[in-house]
Amino acid sequence: MKGSVLKFCSLASGSSGNCLYLKAGDTAILVDAGLSCKKVCEGLEEIGESPCKIKACFVTHDHSDHIKGVPTLMRKFGIPVYATRGTLTSIALSDKRELPRELMYELVPDMEVTLGDLNVMPFRISHDAADPVCYTIRHGDRKLGMATDLGEFTDYTLGHLAGSNALYVEANHNKNMLMMGPYPYQLKLRIDSPLGHLSNEACGDMVSRVMTGELSTVMLAHISVDNNFEELAYQTVSQIVKEAARERGIDAPTVVVADRFKPTAVFEI
Ligand SMILES: [Zn+2]
Ligand SMILES: [Zn+2]
Repeated sequence: MKGSVLKFCSLASGSSGNCLYLKAGDTAILVDAGLSCKKVCEGLEEIGESPCKIKACFVTHDHSDHIKGVPTLMRKFGIPVYATRGTLTSIALSDKRELPRELMYELVPDMEVTLGDLNVMPFRISHDAADPVCYTIRHGDRKLGMATDLGEFTDYTLGHLAGSNALYVEANHNKNMLMMGPYPYQLKLRIDSPLGHLSNEACGDMVSRVMTGELSTVMLAHISVDNNFEELAYQTVSQIVKEAARERGIDAPTVVVADRFKPTAVFEI
């Protein structure tokens, strides 16, 4: 499908809640709903979308900043939820009342599912959660790769992200700020571990390795309030990516930052 368009928008991003919106043709989905259902609806309204039109919510993992609004979105709007078995079990346990089982679809990592105009591929990530995954989402020849909440990336990760036209990636912390910052020592170690989060530098490195001339947009997500700030994440990743693009003789992608609380513009690839 030449001429296909895939739209995406981050409704919110960070430890206070993550929600990514994607649309192609008639199919709109969310990846994660870590905000209250009310906030998800407000975000959707701001971009001219309605929760009634959302065909599914794909969930990456069971941390509350990714699942908080999921049970209410299921009950109130009948939105089906797609996740790995471990994540589905945790979502079910996270709510006091029983959730509608018929709205829960189990995903197997590396097995793509097709939903209307979108193809969604779950792939494993290294993070301290039950059965966590990230996704690549394709529409025709357009592809968005996401990689948030991962302590490290491997050739397997890069293989999944390869060929993306847009990346939604975590630039969680500046390593010095993390180590010098206010967190308890054990928490610092957890964030810095292979099961934690990617630093700005690691994010830049990951993007550089998968970048081709086809990559137009990089959205930085899940930026820590305590151990990072937007400008620093932006400058660090941009510099690494620009340098790599120059070396390879390709155009550097545009780097943008996802806001913690507000929807970004709706980007098209
Ligand atoms: Zn998170
Ligand atoms: Zn997490």
